[in-house]
This record gives sequence, structure tokens and C-alpha cells, in this order.
Amino acid sequence: MRVATLLAGAALLASACGSGQAESSASGKPAVIAAFYPLQWLTEQVGGQDVQVTTLTAPGVEPHDLELGVKQVTEIQDAALTVYIKGVQPAVDEAVAEDRSFDAATAVKTIPAGHHEEGGEEAHDHEVSYDPHLWLDPSRLAAVATRLGERLAAADPAHAQGYKDRAARTAGALGALDQEFAKGLSTCTSKTLVTGHEAFGYLADRYGLKQVGITLDPESEPSPARISEVAKVARAEKVTTIFTESLVSPKVAEVLASQVGAKTAVLDPLESKPSGDYLSAMRDNLTTLRSALGCTT
Ligand SMILES: [Zn+2]
Repeated sequence: MRVATLLAGAALLASACGSGQAESSASGKPAVIAAFYPLQWLTEQVGGQDVQVTTLTAPGVEPHDLELGVKQVTEIQDAALTVYIKGVQPAVDEAVAEDRSFDAATAVKTIPAGHHEEGGEEAHDHEVSYDPHLWLDPSRLAAVATRLGERLAAADPAHAQGYKDRAARTAGALGALDQEFAKGLSTCTSKTLVTGHEAFGYLADRYGLKQVGITLDPESEPSPARISEVAKVARAEKVTTIFTESLVSPKVAEVLASQVGAKTAVLDPLESKPSGDYLSAMRDNLTTLRSALGCTT
């Protein structure tokens, strides 16, 4: 399936060659494409009224395994800038033009991808050696905001100051969120996060928690061996809550929770648009985490 998609993408790219200048949207503003929700939010904050932002991943769609249509590949080729994270969506990685794209992973210190004993490299979807879920650490997303401001300023020099000002403001808001997380997770009974799909590595890394994910890929079924391995950890660490997410069936997490006498709670990996925005959804995550981990301060 993926090979067919890539071949189709390559053919489209070839036929789109020579389409020339970066496209302006109907509004006359630079067209900027964000690959999926957290990047869309960030691009809207930093781009403000000076850009026209569209996203490749519709609300409610799990972004991993996104396939691109003809129209979207052409839009990527023509956009002033495409903001993405290499390793989240292979179809986007293939479609972007190097000089008109911004890979947010280049703006932060990445952490290695999670590896389970079973399956090896073929078992997971991310085709890079690092964990791509970097938006779940607000301090890293702040660094991305700053770099994005510089990239937009370079692409549209007439509005450079606006991009830089909004990037600084966005980085400031993310820095404040980071402080809330650091304080809110500083004194907790448990440090172990048992999650459905392994999306919270950066959050764990930043705030001194340990993530134990049932699967690496939200679409894959974990093996019974993996489930019993996680159950063993959950019992040993006296885990009270198994985290699930809204776009993935909670079935496996529920089975695991009943095996170890825990409950389940939704922790949003923000791979799709939440009911509020990035900041409010992350604050909801913090509230969920504090209750599940028994945090007191
Ligand atoms: Zn993911």
C-alpha cells in the first residue's frame, strides 16, 4: 500500500515540476500548510494574519498513515512553506520540497524511538530513529515556535517583525505551560505512565516520568506477550490508571486495566484537534496526570 502511494506521489511531483513560484492563497497571503493539528495551532499562532494556514489532516483523523490525494500533493508543492515532523507521516515526508518545508524535529533535541522486544524495526510505523511526538513537551514546542518565526520571516521578509513578535509571544505561552507541568508533576506518588500508543515519550523525558506504552503504532494490535509484560510492570509499579486516547479504541487498555485492577483515563496525544486548543488540552492532560499519578503540590 505504501509503495503504491509513494509511486503515485513521485509521478505527481514529476508532473508538477516547473510550476514555479510559491503560491499565494486567494487572500494574497502566503499559503502555509501544517501537516497535523499541533503544527496547525503553532503555525496559526506564529503566522497570525500574515499567512493563510491549511492542514493536511482533517479533524478526527489519526495522522499516522495519512495518504495524500492529488490535490494535496500539488498544494504542498506550491505552498510557501509546509510545516511537518519527519517520521510522523511517511506520505508527507515524501511529498515536501526541501527548500519550502520546515521539519520541526530539526529545531529540538530528539529522543530515541521506543523499541519493544518483539517485532523489531518492521513492527513500527515511524521511519526515523527518533521518537517524532515532540509536541507533547511544551518546552520543545517553544523552540519550534522560535525557529518557525525565523522561517516565516525569511519566506515573507515584508512581515518579518510580525512573525518574530508572534513567535516570541507563543514561545512565552509555551514556556509558562512548561512551568505549570514542571510544578504540577514535581511531587507525585507514581512516576509511571502506562499508555495505549507510545506518544508521551517527550512529556515523560521532560518531567521525569517513565512511559510504558502498550503499542508503538496506534493502528497495530499488541501481542498477548506484550500485554502481559506491561501488566507485570503496572502491578510492580502499583499503577492506578491506564491511559487511553480518543482516536484509538480503548479495548486493549480496558482489558489491561481490569487485569491489574486499575481504571482508565483519556490522555490526549493531540494528534488531532481537541475541543479547545493546544494549551487548554495540555492543561486538561496535566489535570488527568496529577490525579492519576497522585501528585500533591
Ligand atoms: Zn503517534
